[in-house]
Amino acid sequence: MTDMTGIPTPNLVKDPVTGIEIDCDQAMATLFTFIDAELDVHELEEMRGHLDDCPECLYEEELGRKLKGVIQRTCVERAPDQLRERVISRLTELRQVKSA
Ligand SMILES: [Zn+2]
Repeated sequence: MTDMTGIPTPNLVKDPVTGIEIDCDQAMATLFTFIDAELDVHELEEMRGHLDDCPECLYEEELGRKLKGVIQRTCVERAPDQLRERVISRLTELRQVKSA
């Protein structure tokens, strides 16, 4: 994808419904909120729009859902915030490895 200057831009996706663009950083920032279905309607639309057009974020979203499933099965009531922190840092590690 290129803008008018011809410089390649990151995966910036314009949502056809809302006309709002979110980039991968924004998508990743709201990923777990999205998975937990705690976004409002507009944010959900933006996130779905981005995932439709961005295989990389879609991959991370699937990974996040799998990890969340593991957490729910193994640790229903204990320290979910702490586990979430660990999962997020693990995802961050995976991203760094992938982009290195
Ligand atoms: Zn993306």
